[in-house]
Amino acid sequence: MPELRKDPVTGRWVIIAEERSRRPSDFLRESVPPPALDGRICPFCPGQEAKTPPEVFAWRTAGRANEPGWDVRVVPNKFPALRIEGGLDRRPDGMFDRMNGVGAHEVIIETPDHGAVLSTLADRQIELVLSAFRERVADLKRDRRFGYTMLFKNHGAAAGASLEHSHSQLVALPATPKRVQEELDGARRYFEFKERCIFCDIVRQEAGSPRLVLETGRFLVIAAYAARFPFETWIIPKDHDSHFEYADGPTLANLAWVLGATLRKMERTLERPPYNFMIHTAPLQDPAMQHYHWHLELIPRLSRIAGFEWGSGFYINPTPPEEAAKFLRESGVG
Ligand code: ZN
Ligand code: ZN
Repeated sequence: MPELRKDPVTGRWVIIAEERSRRPSDFLRESVPPPALDGRICPFCPGQEAKTPPEVFAWRTAGRANEPGWDVRVVPNKFPALRIEGGLDRRPDGMFDRMNGVGAHEVIIETPDHGAVLSTLADRQIELVLSAFRERVADLKRDRRFGYTMLFKNHGAAAGASLEHSHSQLVALPATPKRVQEELDGARRYFEFKERCIFCDIVRQEAGSPRLVLETGRFLVIAAYAARFPFETWIIPKDHDSHFEYADGPTLANLAWVLGATLRKMERTLERPPYNFMIHTAPLQDPAMQHYHWHLELIPRLSRIAGFEWGSGFYINPTPPEEAAKFLRESGVG
């Protein structure tokens, strides 16, 4: 019997179609091939710094800005979705609303090594990537035009990556995105009703559940109860914090291992799938809040969204989260 499950944060229903239950090997997918240069020059490789816009941030052990010697390098996107200059100039268009496409769109180049992928980087290197995320968010927060920063990664062409050199992205927006606003609203309603953070409650409840993938002193990795997609996996800090950029050094160090281990489990179980991850955090200019709790959502791209999902907002997930968690737990890598 298929089952409907409700996400407690957003109130969104999903269909867990158990009869269509599929094992990892049943998914039609394209494994992401290991990076190969095949004669082209990569603009993210050391020595090619002039091929990107000038860097806005770097962790480096040698060299000057826009020279080799960096470990992590952050540059504006050459083809930005939004532009950094100018005011918002919000205005009507008849009954419609429009404003200038003001924002920041940056690329975090995660390693100088063209052949590396995030999951194979040393913990220390992943930690540098995460602390570069934090530095950039803290910097953009000073610009009052920006209401939200979305950190995300597209891995593999099927997940939207246009360059194979390992990188993630940041988009600073004038407004909070709808998906995040739904979480904020749901979390606020829960807090008003129970006077507890819903994510803290999820951490408490899921620690011993069949949806647990792994647990450390600081993080819980779980298959979401009402996962929209097969193997949708959440990484949630155990300690309450609304803003990612407030995470301290030990938290980022532990997150580096947790993220690497989770990706390695996924790559082993699903044969190097394309994936996306997004960090959901509280709006930039809001003070620390009791009801919201930052987290990372990781989604391997195994299934395609079709008309029913587009039309209804309902998702059909053929893999029960309990089974997905079991496959990841038993993947034999950490
Ligand atoms: Zn490269
Ligand atoms: Zn919390």
